[in-house]
Amino acid sequence: MKTSKEIRCSLCGEPAVTRITYAKLWLCKKHFIEFIEKRVLETLNRYKLAGRGQRILAAVSGGKDSITMLYLLHKASMEMGFKVIALHIDLGIGIYSKISRETVEHFCQSLGIPLITLDLKTLIGYSLPELVHKMRRPPCSICGLIKRYLMNVVAQEIKADAVALGHHLDDLMPYIFKNFILQNLFEISKLGPKTESENGLVGRIRPLYEVSEHEIALYAKLSNLPFVYEECPYAGKKKLDKQVKEFLNSLEGLHPGIKISFARAVARNIHVYKALSTTKPLKKCTVCGAPSSDDMCSFCKLTNRVAGKPLGAEVRLKIRDVLSSLGLLE
Ligand code: SF4
Ligand code: ZN
Ligand code: ZN
Repeated sequence: MKTSKEIRCSLCGEPAVTRITYAKLWLCKKHFIEFIEKRVLETLNRYKLAGRGQRILAAVSGGKDSITMLYLLHKASMEMGFKVIALHIDLGIGIYSKISRETVEHFCQSLGIPLITLDLKTLIGYSLPELVHKMRRPPCSICGLIKRYLMNVVAQEIKADAVALGHHLDDLMPYIFKNFILQNLFEISKLGPKTESENGLVGRIRPLYEVSEHEIALYAKLSNLPFVYEECPYAGKKKLDKQVKEFLNSLEGLHPGIKISFARAVARNIHVYKALSTTKPLKKCTVCGAPSSDDMCSFCKLTNRVAGKPLGAEVRLKIRDVLSSLGLLE
């Protein structure tokens, strides 16, 4: 039996740092880093996530996944000829938000990536904890709604071709599988490597669609990427989500490569899931003009409830000021 000292890279013979079971490879640090960078480049090309001359807005929280996504996207942008602009939303969650913001600012500065930072309290007068306290709704549902809205406004204003997210294979496959079990089939259409821009919603891309959580953690460590170790204090996994994730991981142990095969099969069939939509065509919010299924969008409804008036239009103006000061308005 080989000891870890004897295990060598299958490509160059240097000491191996990891085994990529599904590719039947042991890899050294250099070749592992190359392997992941090639995988992301292939993902960008295979699913046409980004192309020459495009503007990609990368949403970065400061955690391992989004920092790694930004770094890999930045590297790919130099090879593929597109531009990356980072967006960080400071939710005002005490020390967690403070550290996250500083991490993203330093990281973007060190790489020369333009960064847009939006401060929730400055935009609407309330931090996320204050909203949670006032609204008595699950924090992640309020947070998700706000982040989706702000991301879309920024992407529209800077005329971004897409918003890049840090979701990876081990976020997406369990979620897709859970939605399949529950037969929420249309939901699956939103979880592929790419959603197209339509109805005033700027499309989403997921450059880490085929990269696992373990691979991201190792890549971030070996590349010395700075990221926030602490999780958001509101983070918590539902029991079923955790169990589905464990199930897929045990399946991967028995059938190496099955998660990537699953991801590729979903991507091939995304149009089938999309065709199952029963939602009505979107209208425009009468207050702020954002795409909405009702006369007033969810962001305007939420701010109306907490602040006594819908803030969508005001927030867009404040965001335009931020973008203008950064020279990012077209
Ligand atoms: Fe927002 Fe929930 Fe994520 Fe915290 S864990 S950043 S509240 S979505
Ligand atoms: Zn090697
Ligand atoms: Zn609105």
